[in-house]
Amino acid sequence: MSSISSKLTTVKEQIAEACRKAGRSEHDVTLIAVSKTKSAAAVREAWEAGQRKFGESYVQEFLEKCEAPELSGLPLSWHFIGHLQSNKVRQIVDKVTMVHGIDKVSTAEELSKRAAQHNLTVDFLLEVNTSREASKYGLDPDSLLQAAEECFALPNVRLRGLMTIASYDSTAARREFSELRKMLEKIRQNAPEPAALTELSMGMSGDFEEAILEGATMIRIGTAIFGRRA
Ligand SMILES: *Cc1c(COP(=O)(O)O)cnc(C)c1O
Repeated sequence: MSSISSKLTTVKEQIAEACRKAGRSEHDVTLIAVSKTKSAAAVREAWEAGQRKFGESYVQEFLEKCEAPELSGLPLSWHFIGHLQSNKVRQIVDKVTMVHGIDKVSTAEELSKRAAQHNLTVDFLLEVNTSREASKYGLDPDSLLQAAEECFALPNVRLRGLMTIASYDSTAARREFSELRKMLEKIRQNAPEPAALTELSMGMSGDFEEAILEGATMIRIGTAIFGRRA
């Protein structure tokens, strides 16, 4: 077994175990393999081991990987999980299944406008800075409600839920995941289409078990699948 394939197997077993502990179905947790800084050949290897959803953080690198001959014609889907600047939206809008890292209404507006030009409806998540660390991107939890309201009205995009990057400390992380879940419940109460607001993108290699216990529906795992980044 290749090392990516065996790591993927291990991660899936850990996900299954965390789901058992949480009393949840494995089918309710989607694994996104975060391939940033890793080669198209590595993505190909994960694809051959059955992985279909991949996460990328940097626009230029993402565009290059999309076009890579190793991946040409493969049915895989890309999630853009990095912080997305407005002026880069145009470059990725027709290549992504979901955009996770939006933390300004103006970026969602740009996504809406560019999606309309392609006749698409693009799913996205609002990123929340649950740890309130100044170094992190994400909406301040206090401005989330207002931002979500403004996003509901935009055409050609669908707000599907929330995303966060938690604190390094696992106790703090678990509390932040729990807060994100409560925030989602809250914005659902005012949503015109509450049934569409289902996603909690939270949990990475170091904290996905806590995230699953707190209701994560999408976990973003890089290191545990592809090894450490240079
Ligand atoms: C890099 C990255 C990940 C993956 O992190 P690992 O610790 O390598 O699993 C997840 N989410 C985001 C937003 C990232 O930038």
